[in-house]
Amino acid sequence: MKLSSPQHIAPQDAENRKAVKPVICYNPSTLPTVDVAAHKQWRQTAQKVNEICIAPRSAGFIEVPAGAYFRILSTEGPQVGDLNVWNAHNLDERFYSGKTRALYGTHLSTGDRLWSSFPHMRPMATIIDDTLDWYGFDAFGGSVHDVIGTRCDPYTGRLLSGDDYHYCCHSNLTRGLAEYRGLTLEAAEAVVHDVLNVFMCTGFTRDTGQYFMKASPVRPGDYLEFVADIDLLVGLSACPGGDCSSEHSSDTANCYPLVIEVWDPGADVRQEFTPSQPNEYSGTHGRS
Ligand SMILES: [Zn+2]
Repeated sequence: MKLSSPQHIAPQDAENRKAVKPVICYNPSTLPTVDVAAHKQWRQTAQKVNEICIAPRSAGFIEVPAGAYFRILSTEGPQVGDLNVWNAHNLDERFYSGKTRALYGTHLSTGDRLWSSFPHMRPMATIIDDTLDWYGFDAFGGSVHDVIGTRCDPYTGRLLSGDDYHYCCHSNLTRGLAEYRGLTLEAAEAVVHDVLNVFMCTGFTRDTGQYFMKASPVRPGDYLEFVADIDLLVGLSACPGGDCSSEHSSDTANCYPLVIEVWDPGADVRQEFTPSQPNEYSGTHGRS
């Protein structure tokens, strides 16, 4: 933990240095845009073709073809979900939460896209609807659907509490993916990755910059909906933290199921849809 007071005297021009105005690192207006309005129209005539219900403290998996929609739905009570997304044909291509955060900010909503890992770095899914978009940022600096947390996991739990807890999101996704795809636990664990924290309400404290969570504002009926930009395997863990109002690596919180629905706009519409293409960087890194 950081020492509470600095160990070095500030230079004479410290105030000037601190007064320099920040610039936004990445201008999102230069990224390829998505016609959210068109997707909302196609979505209206789409048919529900698949659905899974994910029990608390477990993970569920579902495939979504490029051009189809998937909706993550709160059903019985406030519950957050830890989302992993893979290329359905190559699990090494997976959601890159850090780069997505750098492009859009700490929390995602309608119009933001989930980008994939290097060397692919392309949109995997795009948010087309978010019933919690009214929340914005609260007085504490908190907001919903973050890409700042990693996922609750048994390693950190062990360090902090000394106990082995097996139903953290990392373990739920690892165990579930191994079963779903017939992988060893080791192979599954290697491709489980940092998440989009669906419905979770989080931020950084203004004074110390520490990661905080608070009770999620999600209620039954709320949803977050995406279009798949490539063929996807989607994995979601119903976090043992429930609404994440107190703790998240134990069996003490009230937890509820989460549902994922897949909606197909029809083969004709999907044929018109152009899946996103891998990044065009040469990959040579300066070597000829
Ligand atoms: Zn969790």
